[in-house]
Amino acid sequence: MITATGLKKVYENKNVVLEDINFKIEKGDVYGLVGRSGAGKSTLLRCINGLTDYQDGSMKVNGYEVKDLNTKQIKEFRKNVGMIFQHFSLLERKSIYDNIALPMRCWKYSKKEIDSKVNELLELVELKDKAGARPRNLSGGQKQRVAIARALTMNPNILLCDEATSALDPSTTNSILDLLSDINKKIGITIVLVTHEMSVIQRICNKISILENGKIASQGTVKDIFLNQPPALKRLIGVENSILPEKGRNIRFMYSVAKLEGSELIVRIVNELNIKFSIMESSTQSYRNDKLSTFVINIDDSDFNLVTNYLDKNKVEWIEIKNDGNEVRN
Ligand code: ADP
Repeated sequence: MITATGLKKVYENKNVVLEDINFKIEKGDVYGLVGRSGAGKSTLLRCINGLTDYQDGSMKVNGYEVKDLNTKQIKEFRKNVGMIFQHFSLLERKSIYDNIALPMRCWKYSKKEIDSKVNELLELVELKDKAGARPRNLSGGQKQRVAIARALTMNPNILLCDEATSALDPSTTNSILDLLSDINKKIGITIVLVTHEMSVIQRICNKISILENGKIASQGTVKDIFLNQPPALKRLIGVENSILPEKGRNIRFMYSVAKLEGSELIVRIVNELNIKFSIMESSTQSYRNDKLSTFVINIDDSDFNLVTNYLDKNKVEWIEIKNDGNEVRN
């Protein structure tokens, strides 16, 4: 659906802001582009809908090479790619209804079609009673709901979100993220979101790319990134590598709390395998509508196969890590 291959972006001042960008975003994904400020996330998002150009490589969206589209084609192409921003970009002079109706009016839809779509969207974003209000009378969260409705008027199959919750307080952020998640499930729209906040990623994304200085430093499913904890993730969230025992072997395993209780699994390993081990780390993080528990245990060399076979049998994902906290690659 969205495929970047060897993409490179250079600004006029010769500043290389994106280099060798590769990713594949599938239909229905909620894909996060995450990284520190200045990493190139917004620029990359803008390459997806042609708001900015790129000098090398490819960005294929809905089957089109974005940089090859002419002015007329790009207007048509953008019907399928909605976008929302940190500061909502609503027109202050117009009512909420008119703000949402704007794209359809530009495309000269009939009054009847516009009315039916705008009412459907007002219902979706739970703002029916605000149709006649002006943006200044709405809270930040409500304004972002209007912006989401406006982005959906042309029935796009992709929604781009540029730091869409960065100007909102935590509970409003969660309600906007839950709305985006509902929309993703209800209409199957693919969402690409730019954020510097891990909590946003944890709440709605299934896959991410971590950007550092214009390059992708790590990418994969959110679950794999949590399990593997690549250096780019640790740098982003500011976590030091843990120092683990050199003796024996260290295993990190992770599982969904909805499927297994953490303590229950640990007790089962002790009881069923009849082995001794040390728990070096344990944590539980929210992930979408679930929680993921992660443990690092140190076991005797001789118990390695026993434990890893047991984890495999119970469909618990694991990796071996070295004593400096980095993943062992076999
Ligand atoms: P992020 O979204 O991760 O904060 P941006 O994509 O906004 O990063 O910016 C990436 C880099 O590109 C930054 O170094 C920024 O200064 C630079 N940049 C952004 N826009 C322009 C521009 N119009 N001209 C030159 N450099 C730019």
